Amino acid sequence: MAKTIFKKIIDGEVPAKIVYQDEQCLAFHDVNAQAPVHVLVIPKKEIASLDALGPDDGAVLSHLWLVMPKIAKQLGLSDGYRVVVNCGRDAGQTVDHLHFHLLGGRSLSWPPG
Ligand code: 5GP
Repeated sequence: MAKTIFKKIIDGEVPAKIVYQDEQCLAFHDVNAQAPVHVLVIPKKEIASLDALGPDDGAVLSHLWLVMPKIAKQLGLSDGYRVVVNCGRDAGQTVDHLHFHLLGGRSLSWPPG
């Protein structure tokens, strides 16, 4: 199966503006930012989407959630931020590698479109 663009970023084959990484995850600026801060936080493990999570993925998932507030703090999002996961076609998922959009730096409207 062809590598996703995010797997290529993990493997260093495609450049990205990385803001954080450790053994389990990677965070980098989205190329098409929808807010002053728009970072994608992804597991290094290849998981296609929320729907593809398995019983062994609890640890990596909780790790991602624990890391995101640290990244938000590192990026100065002291007034708040939003975490979005698009899952499947109706939600607009375009890359088949699980990713969390971390958005901030402006007031974010609700409900989302
Ligand atoms: P989705 O629509 O699947 O929830 O989000 C995919 C995100 O990946 C989009 O916001 C898109 O701008 C971003 N993206 C797609 N290709 C690249 C890339 O090559 N580099 C970076 N940094 N972001 C990308």
